[in-house]
Amino acid sequence: MGAAMTQSDTFLAAAADLLGPRGLTRDADLLAPWLTDWRGRFTGKALALASPANTGEVARLVKLCAKHDVPIVPQGGNSGMSGGATPDGTGEALLLSLRRMDAIRDFDADARQVTCEAGVILQSLHKKAEEHRLRFPLTLGGKGSATIGGLVSTNAGGTQVLRHGTMRAQVLGLEAVLADGSVLDTLTPLKKDNRGFDLKQLLIGSEGTLGIVTAATLRLLPESGDRRVIWAGLDSLQMARKLLLHCERLAGDSLEGFEVVPAHSLAAVLDHLPDARAPLVGKHSWNALIELVAPADEAEALGGTTEELLESAMKQDLLGDAVVAANETQAEAFWQLRDSIAPAERAIGPAMQHDISVPVARMADFVEAASPMVEKRFPGTRAIAFGHLGDGNVHFHVLAPAGAARGEWEKSEGKAISAYVHDLVTEWGGSISAEHGIGQVKRDELGRLGGPVALAVMRSVKQALDPRGLLNPGKLVPLAKDRATP
Ligand SMILES: Cc1cc2nc3c(=O)[nH]c(=O)nc-3n(C[C@H](O)[C@H](O)[C@H](O)COP(=O)(O)OP(=O)(O)OC[C@H]3O[C@@H](n4cnc5c(N)ncnc54)[C@H](O)[C@@H]3O)c2cc1C
Repeated sequence: MGAAMTQSDTFLAAAADLLGPRGLTRDADLLAPWLTDWRGRFTGKALALASPANTGEVARLVKLCAKHDVPIVPQGGNSGMSGGATPDGTGEALLLSLRRMDAIRDFDADARQVTCEAGVILQSLHKKAEEHRLRFPLTLGGKGSATIGGLVSTNAGGTQVLRHGTMRAQVLGLEAVLADGSVLDTLTPLKKDNRGFDLKQLLIGSEGTLGIVTAATLRLLPESGDRRVIWAGLDSLQMARKLLLHCERLAGDSLEGFEVVPAHSLAAVLDHLPDARAPLVGKHSWNALIELVAPADEAEALGGTTEELLESAMKQDLLGDAVVAANETQAEAFWQLRDSIAPAERAIGPAMQHDISVPVARMADFVEAASPMVEKRFPGTRAIAFGHLGDGNVHFHVLAPAGAARGEWEKSEGKAISAYVHDLVTEWGGSISAEHGIGQVKRDELGRLGGPVALAVMRSVKQALDPRGLLNPGKLVPLAKDRATP
């Protein structure tokens, strides 16, 4: 015990020397907000909070951690949904925040590329791109806190994946510090490069278990000339699926997003946001939020396309009612309703959240089959699904029965519910994690349901890059000797 104390004291003194007073703290008040995950499911302890100022400091700090055998939990905005950025309860790990590294290193408007440090917040990147009449084509409800490093490390999706793909499609180059403190630099974006494995893709989605992302070069697109945001009322999810196909046929590449919102989620959001109003007067079991965009030289035609799309959809009974946002303020208000579902649902009470995907064509069937099965098996629960229907990915939440105790229920009945939902998803040929990653919340479920060959390959990669299991221990695919067992 005495020897262990000396070891961590020596480490802390050396880390303080390296990072200076702004770069290292053990102040409990400063640490507290970063020790619980966004959903409030996990709370851990940390040896200290390190906030290095640049890649050189990260590299030297990681070397120091390796020397003193100190595990590292990388963290960005702490908006992740899987407990991936929360340390375990031992207090042995160093919480490594990248938030201080928030510089835009290079902005090349002609090449439509930006190189930013890991701590740049998504919303700030959107603003920076807009100043240059460009846009970064990935957005999500947590954009005010999610960082580029976190988005890369979770391969985040969001509401524009339908047209532009996940983070994997946006990253042109990456800089990362590996477990031994060496710096992998692939920031120079080459259109063609066949020198072996694509290592940046290996790091994307690795949730801080293979390396610490310090910077990324990202692709940008020209700004949109115009957009139309439609809120449609529907009778069923099957209707939404048909409407989606109709939109794809008629709007083609203009279709930027297609999200579904059940009546329950809309009501929760309206309760949560006192100033918000429902876009349609009538009540509908389902709603679709549809965005069409056009480049500047095709902007004029967009109004016509929207009208034609809605008229023909009405004629074919593909929607009950619809409204097109009259201006940008209303368009943003429609999106705010969608983006507020997660916080609104969180405020209602305990729920088991599953971000799942099945083949796009089967999602409506899946939700219609699985919801009553779950509710029957776990009396008093309520299953709701919302989100990215266009990607075959919905957030399938199972709300706890009235009176269930937050914290207790998740660990008991909640656990059985998740196992049941994940079994169903697997039977339907789907994924138990479409976008939020595995973290600690789905670690055991990945071990139970993941393909044995895929799991063995992932463990080999982890073993090769981080043989001592120092990077984000206990997350994703831990090594057998990992110290952290959540
Ligand atoms: C309201 C709301 C809506 C959301 N909607 C979506 C959505 O539609 N789609 C979606 O995909 N996600 C969504 N999210 C989840 C979240 O925003 C993303 O997972 C995001 O990528 C997390 O970024 P972060 O900076 O907060 O990362 P954190 O939460 O800090 O970390 C997430 C994981 O990445 C690791 N990590 C963080 N930074 C680094 C780094 N620099 N190097 C290595 N590892 C690192 C952490 O260890 C952890 O495992 C939403 C969140 C909220 C709060």
